[in-house]
Amino acid sequence: MRLQFQRESKAPPLPDDLRRRLDDVLEHFPSGVTVHDIDGCIVMANHLAGKLLGRSEDELIGMCADSAGWHLTDENCMPMAPEEYPVHQVLRTGNKVTGRVVGLPPRTGPGSGPGQRTPCWMICNAYPETDDDGKLRGAVVCFTDCTELKEAQQRLLKSEERLRLMLEGSSDAPWDWDLVSGETYYSERWWEMLGYRAGELRLDRATWRRLLHPQDLPHVTAFMADLLVGGRSAYSIELRLRHSDGHYVHVLTRGVVLRDAAGKALRMSGTNTDLTERKQSERRIYELAYFDPLTGLPNRRFLIEELDKTLARHSRSGQYGALLFIDLDNFKLLNDTMGHDVGDMLLRQVAERLRQALRDSDQLARLGGDEFVVVLENLGAGTAEATPHADHVARKILALLGQPYDLPGSPSPRTPSIGITLFDGSAGGIDQLLRQADLAMYRAKADGRNTARFFDPSMQAAAERQAALDKALRDGLAQREFVLYCQPQFDTEGRLIGAEALARWQHGEHGLVSPHEFIGQAEASGLIIPLGQQMLEESCRALARWSGDPLLGRVKLSVNISVRQLRDPGFAASVEALLAASGASADRLCLELTESVFAENMQELIERMQALRAQGICFSLDDFGNGTSSLAYLMRFPLASLKIDRSFVRDAGANSATIVEAIVALARKLKLEVVAEGVEHEDQRDFMVDCGCDALQGYLLGRPVPLPEFEQLYGSGARA
Ligand code: C2E
Ligand code: CA
Ligand code: CA
Repeated sequence: MRLQFQRESKAPPLPDDLRRRLDDVLEHFPSGVTVHDIDGCIVMANHLAGKLLGRSEDELIGMCADSAGWHLTDENCMPMAPEEYPVHQVLRTGNKVTGRVVGLPPRTGPGSGPGQRTPCWMICNAYPETDDDGKLRGAVVCFTDCTELKEAQQRLLKSEERLRLMLEGSSDAPWDWDLVSGETYYSERWWEMLGYRAGELRLDRATWRRLLHPQDLPHVTAFMADLLVGGRSAYSIELRLRHSDGHYVHVLTRGVVLRDAAGKALRMSGTNTDLTERKQSERRIYELAYFDPLTGLPNRRFLIEELDKTLARHSRSGQYGALLFIDLDNFKLLNDTMGHDVGDMLLRQVAERLRQALRDSDQLARLGGDEFVVVLENLGAGTAEATPHADHVARKILALLGQPYDLPGSPSPRTPSIGITLFDGSAGGIDQLLRQADLAMYRAKADGRNTARFFDPSMQAAAERQAALDKALRDGLAQREFVLYCQPQFDTEGRLIGAEALARWQHGEHGLVSPHEFIGQAEASGLIIPLGQQMLEESCRALARWSGDPLLGRVKLSVNISVRQLRDPGFAASVEALLAASGASADRLCLELTESVFAENMQELIERMQALRAQGICFSLDDFGNGTSSLAYLMRFPLASLKIDRSFVRDAGANSATIVEAIVALARKLKLEVVAEGVEHEDQRDFMVDCGCDALQGYLLGRPVPLPEFEQLYGSGARA
C-alpha cells in the first residue's frame, strides 16, 4: 500500500529512495496514521489506520471524521461531539492534542463484520500541519489500540469499587502493615472505631499497641511474637483498645500473615471488628440468667453456683457458715389486696435494706416471690461460735425489715420470718441446706411470725412424718376411710334444732383418728378439698334422707368448710350440683367457716358466699372470738349465726362473762343467732342461756356419734 498524496505541494518532491523508506516506515508503524486536510477529510492513511477504523485504506480517502459513520466516545463511554474529536480540535485551535483516549463503538449495520462487540479503545495524538508560510493546512492523527489496557483498567476500577463498597457496607475496619518497609495503613473506620479522626495519632506499626489495655499487653505481645515466628498464616484474637474518650473497646482482630519462601513474615493485613454490642448482649444474657430483674439481686441459679464454691471453701478452712431463709409474712395477702405493683415496690425496698444490712463478703439472693436467702461465711470453727453470729445477723434483719415501708395506702406493718441453718464443709449439699432453712422458716411462721428459728433435726423428722401422713391421707381418701359423725344442737328449751357434721378417719391400722390429727395437715397439703367434698356429699345424702322424717326433717346440718374450698371459683356450682343430685333442701344446709376467711381476698369470697346464700344455704362463723374478726368484716359477710369459741364457754362465769354478753349483744344488732359449743356442764349451759345464746352444743347434751347412730338416736324411728 502506498501513501496517497492528493494535494499539491510547494516543497520539492522527495527523492524516490527516501520516499520508499518513508512508505515502509508508515506501513509498519505500530499506530494508525491519518492525514487530514483543512476540512478534516482524510487525504492519506496507513495500513493500520484502515484496520483499526474497519475500512480499507482506499475507502478512507476523502472521508471526513464526522461524516464517516464512526462515532467516537470519550473515556467514560459518553458520545463525543464531532468538534471534540482530536482532529477537529487541532484544526480548530491549531494546537496539538496528546494522549487522548477515545472509544470507537463496534460497527453495526451493513458491512460490519462479526467479531468485535465491545468498543475499541485508542490513545490518540494529533498534530497540526502547516504550509511554508506557517498557515494551518491540515492535521495528522496517530492512534494506537489500547483496548486491552483500557479493559484491564476498567476491571481494576470495578474490583476496587467492589472492595470499597464491601468495606463500606461492613462495620469492620481494615489495616495493613508492610513489615519490610514499615509502611502502615489504618483505615478511616479503624480510627472511627476508637473515636479518632484518621491520622489523629502518630502512625506506625505500634500505634495499636500503645492503645492496648495494660491487662491485655502481656498475652497479646506473646501471641504476636509467637505468630511471627510460627508458620501460621491466619489468626484472630480478642483485645481491648483505648477509645479517645478513655473507655476500652472490645475488638476482634482477624488477619493474615504473608511470608516469603523461607517463612519469614513480610506483611500483615486484616480487619478489626467492634465487639461492644456483642459484649453487651453477652452481659445482658448473663444478667438475665443470673440476676433477678425486679430487685437486681442474684437469683436462685447464681446462689446455687456460688454456694457450691462456698461449701468447697469451708471444707478447706474447716469454718462454719450460715444460710438464712427469709420469707415475708402475709406477702400474698398484700399482693392480692394492694396489687402487684405495691408488692413489687415492697420487694425492691426489702432487697435494698438487706443489701445495706450485709457485709460485702455475705451473699444475698432472691429465690423468687417473697423469699430471700443470705449466706454468711466464716462464722467460726464450731456451731457454738457460729450460732451467736448468725443470730445477731438475723435479729438485725428482723429489726431492719420491720421498719415502716414507703408504700401507697396505709398497709399494715410488714415483717419477715427467718429460718437459719448452719453448715460446714461436710454439709450434705445445697438442696439439703435450702430445705433445712426452709423448715426452720416454717417453724418461725408457726411460732407467730416476725421471728427467726434455727434448724434442728427434729424439724426434719416432723417434715418426714408430715410427708408420711400426707400419703396415708391420700390412700384413706381413695379408700373412703373418712366417715361422718354428727353432734346434736338444741335450743334453750332442749328441742333438737340442728347437728354438726364432724369428720373421723376410720384408719385400717390405727382405728378411729381424731380430726385434730389430720385436719391441719390436710389443710396444709390441700387434701382438705377432696376431703371436704366427701363430707359435703355425705351430709347432703343424710339431709335428703332426713327430709321425710318428722323430727330430723326440721334439723339443720352444719358442715365445716375450709377456706381453701371456698377459694375454688367452682365451689358454689359444685354445692348446687350436690344438692340437686341428692335431692336435699338447701335451706337445711349450713356451712361453718372460721375467721381465716378474713385474711383472704374477701370480695371474691363474699360474692361466692352470696351466690350460695341465694340458694338458701346459710353460713355460721365458727370459733368466734379467738381470731381477728373486726366488726367491719362481720357486717360484709352474709352470715346467719356465730359460734362462740369454746374457750369462753369453758371459762363461763368468770372473766369471759362480759365478753360473751358483748358478743350476744353484737349478734343481736347484726341479727345473727348465737350458738354456744363445748357445753360440758350444767352451769355452763345455764350461763350461756342466761347470756342470751340461741342454741347449745356440747358433751352435756350429746357427743358426736356415727351418722347411723345419730339417726337412730334422734330420728322418729327412735320413738317408735
Ligand atoms: P369445730 O368445728 O370447732 O368442731 C367442734 C369440736 O368440738 C369437735 O371436735 C367436737 O367433737 C368438739 N366438741 C363438741 N362438744 C364438746 C365438748 O363439750 N367438749 C369438748 N372438749 N369438745 C367438744 P372434733 O370433732 O374433734 O373436731 C375438731 C375440729 O376439726 C373441728 O372443730 C373442725 O375445726 C375440724 N373438723 C372436723 N371435721 C371437719 C370437716 O369435715 N371439715 C373441716 N374443714 N374441718 C373439720
Ligand atoms: Ca365447727
Ligand atoms: Ca368450733
